[in-house]
Amino acid sequence: MRDIKALHPDLQKKYAQLIKLCSKKGITIGVAECLRTKAEQDALYAKGRTAPGKIVTNAKGSNYSSMHQWGVAFDFYLKMDIDGDGQISDDAYNNAKKTFNQVGALAKSIGLEWGGDWKSIKDIPHIQLKDWGSTTSKLKAKYGTPEKFMKTWQGTTGQAAATTAEKSKEASKSAKRIESAQSFDKNLAGSYKTKCKCYLMAGTRSTGIVAPLGKGAEIQCYGYYTAKNGKKYLYVKYGKKEGFVTSTNLKK
Ligand SMILES: [Zn+2]
Repeated sequence: MRDIKALHPDLQKKYAQLIKLCSKKGITIGVAECLRTKAEQDALYAKGRTAPGKIVTNAKGSNYSSMHQWGVAFDFYLKMDIDGDGQISDDAYNNAKKTFNQVGALAKSIGLEWGGDWKSIKDIPHIQLKDWGSTTSKLKAKYGTPEKFMKTWQGTTGQAAATTAEKSKEASKSAKRIESAQSFDKNLAGSYKTKCKCYLMAGTRSTGIVAPLGKGAEIQCYGYYTAKNGKKYLYVKYGKKEGFVTSTNLKK
């Protein structure tokens, strides 16, 4: 989410201050990421682990251990032509001139914490409020969940953010994105019944449950499936719902 209004009111103020300080030095920044939902954080955590790419975070969505989930952090990028090729779009994360360090220093000058100072994973675009320490442990201990924390924010912006967070939580619960199946075998097509209580899942990873299935639930497969870890996950229809069921839970 790139909506600065979803952030803690104090951080919104500091952000406005930072923009001014930057522009005095001829630096233009934009905001890349503000409040992050649990699902978004999980997707990031998967990078370099179960998904391709490099590891970018040590914070799992379900642990609420990213400051982004608490609305007290944002990531910035550069809206400047750093390499002098007449374009700004290719320099969003170009730190050849240590511009990120300059912004980091300006942020620190107004009492913010800069991710470029971190030891484990240096995060040069990252800036956060210092009020609760570097990590989320104090926030977790005191408020439990980001939603509860956001309800304590003063003024309308905090309220709006709390509503946004709740809405996105609802959305990630109901509208689980269904993975697409990777293979096809016409011999697998047909009607099945579940052999036991199991779940219609959104994917072969732990991407969530679309619907619980009772024993004997009637299911249609059109031959699409994904094979993973020696198991076959059939892509099926259950009433109007779609998702995956492990083949061992099904009989034709
Ligand atoms: Zn960040």
